[in-house]
Amino acid sequence: MLCVLVTAVLLAGAVVQAMPEGGAGSNASGLGTGSSLSNDRSSGLPRLRSIHEVDDKGRGTARLDGHAAGEFEPLAFDDRGEGRIEPDPDWVEEHIVTADVPLLDGQVRCHELLVPQLEGALGELEERDLGHLIDPGQYGGCWVPRHIMHEPDRALSLHAWGLAVDLNVSTNRYGDEPQMDERVVEVFERWGFAWGGHWRTPDGMHFELVEVRDEPRS
Ligand SMILES: [Zn+2]
Repeated sequence: MLCVLVTAVLLAGAVVQAMPEGGAGSNASGLGTGSSLSNDRSSGLPRLRSIHEVDDKGRGTARLDGHAAGEFEPLAFDDRGEGRIEPDPDWVEEHIVTADVPLLDGQVRCHELLVPQLEGALGELEERDLGHLIDPGQYGGCWVPRHIMHEPDRALSLHAWGLAVDLNVSTNRYGDEPQMDERVVEVFERWGFAWGGHWRTPDGMHFELVEVRDEPRS
């Protein structure tokens, strides 16, 4: 009991900042995330990262930092154990949408601002006859309300915001050498995504929003 109380006190008011989803080893200094290591390699833009505080009732409030941070409203949540969170239902109602997108079977559930760019990237692959490079059976999800790596002491994953998608998961496992075709990476980067395969601990399945754009970069 004492232990629980001490933990609660330590968590109260604590600010938890995101490491890259690639996690330990992604930051050489281990001193935080303020360095250029959190910039996306392709665009050079500061990547989105989630920062949250927990109040004395255990209620968390997360906000985003990074290039596109101004586009997103704060996300209130409760922890549900094992690194999972329960987001404020009003936030979910307002921002998480279900959509049909090219190349993937079934529907995706993502942040409303990610969907047009995901449609754009997958649509471009389809138009260029590169659709075979995406395995619809190996779609790994988009909106997943959780902390990074399901570790409750870490920041919220961009998946908790519906701002990341995992593709071709079986051949692009976290920590393994990515097998993602470079043409897929190139198309997603132009459509405003950062690719986890560039990270020191690669997360080759993972694409996350780094900027909000109407059209791909040329
Ligand atoms: Zn991911």
